Amino acid sequence: MNTADSERLGAALEQMGLQPVEKAAEADVIVLNSCVVRQGAEDKVVSNLAWMAPLKKKQPQRIVALMGCMVGPKSDELARRFPYVDVFMRPQEYEPLLELVGERLGVDWEGCVGPLTPVRPDVTCHVPIIHGCDLMCTFCIIPYRRGRQVSRPVEEVAQEVETLASRGVKEVTLLGQTVDAYGHDLAENPSLADLFMRLNEIDGIERIRFLTSHPMFMTQEIIQAIAELPKVCEHINLPVQAGDDEVLNQMRRRYSRAEYINLVSRIRQTVPDVAIATDIIVGFPGETEEQFQHTLDLLSDLRLDKVHCAAYSTRPGTIASRTMDDAISDTEKTSRRQRVEHQQEKIQTEINAELVGTYQEILVEGRQRGKWQGRTRSNKLVFFEDQAYHLGNLVTVKIDRSSPWSLQGSLAVEARLVNPVHSRGDN
Ligand code: SF4
Repeated sequence: MNTADSERLGAALEQMGLQPVEKAAEADVIVLNSCVVRQGAEDKVVSNLAWMAPLKKKQPQRIVALMGCMVGPKSDELARRFPYVDVFMRPQEYEPLLELVGERLGVDWEGCVGPLTPVRPDVTCHVPIIHGCDLMCTFCIIPYRRGRQVSRPVEEVAQEVETLASRGVKEVTLLGQTVDAYGHDLAENPSLADLFMRLNEIDGIERIRFLTSHPMFMTQEIIQAIAELPKVCEHINLPVQAGDDEVLNQMRRRYSRAEYINLVSRIRQTVPDVAIATDIIVGFPGETEEQFQHTLDLLSDLRLDKVHCAAYSTRPGTIASRTMDDAISDTEKTSRRQRVEHQQEKIQTEINAELVGTYQEILVEGRQRGKWQGRTRSNKLVFFEDQAYHLGNLVTVKIDRSSPWSLQGSLAVEARLVNPVHSRGDN
């Protein structure tokens, strides 16, 4: 979501005549877009801010802005801690910076800035379709920082995707904190499935992805649309967070372990070759060894394609921070995280090994260390070597080798040349 916000702010600044530069030290305007979903992310923001102080001192007319989830409704405390920051902006709150840049340039920013569609997008592009979240998971700071759920109308999203297609984008990833709740707040009450149908018609777009789903909102209508619409990829990120009912209840996740298992089973029955990823938090306040074992067992039984595992850290301002005791030691949290990762590595090794010898459709996204790289429809990273230019093409790759994290293959067929407009070489 932050990447998408940054792209949009970048588009606005470019419309005002600014250009991106390679190094922050060379920039007249530096924007740090912050994530504070975990303590580690917040620490990184603070250290980056410290690094900017001398840059500002050296060139006082330089504008330094802090955007994103670190900025709450009141920024007094931040202004005290970081006096060299000129502007504080909440997520998607671009105006204060645009106003300041407009003042410096002597232009009216509202007259310059049109739709905030990325100007030079990559082959794949993020498209936010919902801002905010209406749920109140006890560990999560996002609803406090990004506000209530607001869905963008279907036609507004469709127009943006059409523009992106005209700029060479082949794959869009629709973003929302609870992306499958799309439309619940709109008057016409469209669903994510309705949006999929509209976007599936857009010429030039080859693939549609979506992040992140909440198990409570994943309806059969959406699952059916994933199965039936050719451009919608068979990949679902469906965070379960824990495999124990008491912990799920403490987290206020609003589903049970059995309901999650049932949902995964329905998805697998309806969508052939679907890949399902999940998020896990270990060391939630009060999580016992037995409760943690329930999470390990769930992951072992479901054999999901990917698990993003994080150790719990208290986020000030959340319900958990006010009402629960974060008493599990860091050592224990790390050990639980490593046990999840170790088990999952074995599962992914086996799942990916089954793909060796198969032919996979890959959208080529770029080059790394002399190899082309792209993803399967199920979001698995694939590398292959070839001298020809393939960026933005859909190709078929025969998978030769696998690891838990990626696949290596050889070009089988140039499946379809999808008229790449990009001219980037190696990156
Ligand atoms: S669904 Fe829960 S975890 Fe996700 S953004 Fe909303 S409150 Fe946070």
